[in-house]
Amino acid sequence: MRRLLLWCARNRWLGERLPRLRFVRRAVRRFMPGEELAAALTAAETYRARGIGSVFTFLGENLADLSDAERVAAHYREVLDVVSTRGLGGEISVKLTQLGLDIDPEVAFAHFDGLARHAAERRTWAWIDMEGSAYTERTVAFYERTRAAHENVGLCLQAYLHRTPADVQRLLPQHPAVRLVKGAYDEPASVAHRRRSDVDAAFLALSTQLLEAVRDGNARFIAATHDTSLIARIAGFGEALGLDRKRIEVQMLYGIRTVEQRRLAAEGFDVRGLIAYGTAWYPWYMRRLAERPANVVFALRQLLP
Ligand SMILES: Cc1cc2nc3c(=O)[nH]c(=O)nc-3n(C[C@H](O)[C@H](O)[C@H](O)COP(=O)(O)OP(=O)(O)OC[C@H]3O[C@@H](n4cnc5c(N)ncnc54)[C@H](O)[C@@H]3O)c2cc1C
Repeated sequence: MRRLLLWCARNRWLGERLPRLRFVRRAVRRFMPGEELAAALTAAETYRARGIGSVFTFLGENLADLSDAERVAAHYREVLDVVSTRGLGGEISVKLTQLGLDIDPEVAFAHFDGLARHAAERRTWAWIDMEGSAYTERTVAFYERTRAAHENVGLCLQAYLHRTPADVQRLLPQHPAVRLVKGAYDEPASVAHRRRSDVDAAFLALSTQLLEAVRDGNARFIAATHDTSLIARIAGFGEALGLDRKRIEVQMLYGIRTVEQRRLAAEGFDVRGLIAYGTAWYPWYMRRLAERPANVVFALRQLLP
């Protein structure tokens, strides 16, 4: 089921048709406050009232036209401006293929560089999402280059990839900011762990290493998962290292495990919700369904009156 849904995520024919169906549009609202920035800002206000921070993602990937990349960069600059004016303290997280990486990597670099500077002037952070494994090396190298110029930039790494422990070693001398996730794409066994228990073990091992770097002041680390038993073990290790709860950062996606997000924030952990919005939600939404095929039942229920 997971592989089928991830295949659907990549299928252009379905991508043009499914988003037009009313029940699919209704179902996506579970993970997205709306298509407009205004809806995302309202969600961020609600988060703030609960002591939860926000990360904004304007959905889109694999652009085919560089003028769209300029439009995306301009939109993110606007997000940084509004978030700063409203005192929301929100960060942004961007896909490099949404900034034109497939067409002209230098243009993508210039756009991200501008966003990092814009974010720094507003005392916040710009993050790079991690896409499928065809992009991993380019994305890590891109991060090394941008990290050399900016303090306030972070990179998502995927625990399921066999190469990630080496990527962490490679980045540690640069004092990186790492958002660790399990990984959302359909990768072959030659590239990624396929058993859940192996992914969880890799996540934990990487987390312990990165938490030690946090303790030593050499990294920022975010455990981005909805797996609360994994979070409990990571938090336990962080506390055993002497880290204050405020220095143990957790991120989840908007609409998933909301009660747990609130509980962790109330317990004193640094929690952020990643709020995705925009019209280009199809592949992103299919990946959310693939993470928990029971969500398909929820989507189909939207067919009922
Ligand atoms: C802040 C954030 C940023 C991310 N950025 C990236 C990225 O840049 N690149 C990338 O490849 N992946 C990214 N991901 C997705 C990630 O790779 C996983 O696919 C996703 O988080 C599901 O795995 P999990 O860690 O929650 O653990 P799982 O073991 O999959 O889930 C643990 C529990 O959480 C709940 N849950 C998980 N997913 C869902 C869902 N979709 N719907 C309902 N309940 C669910 C279920 O109760 C499940 O039992 C991101 C995730 C987060 C939270």
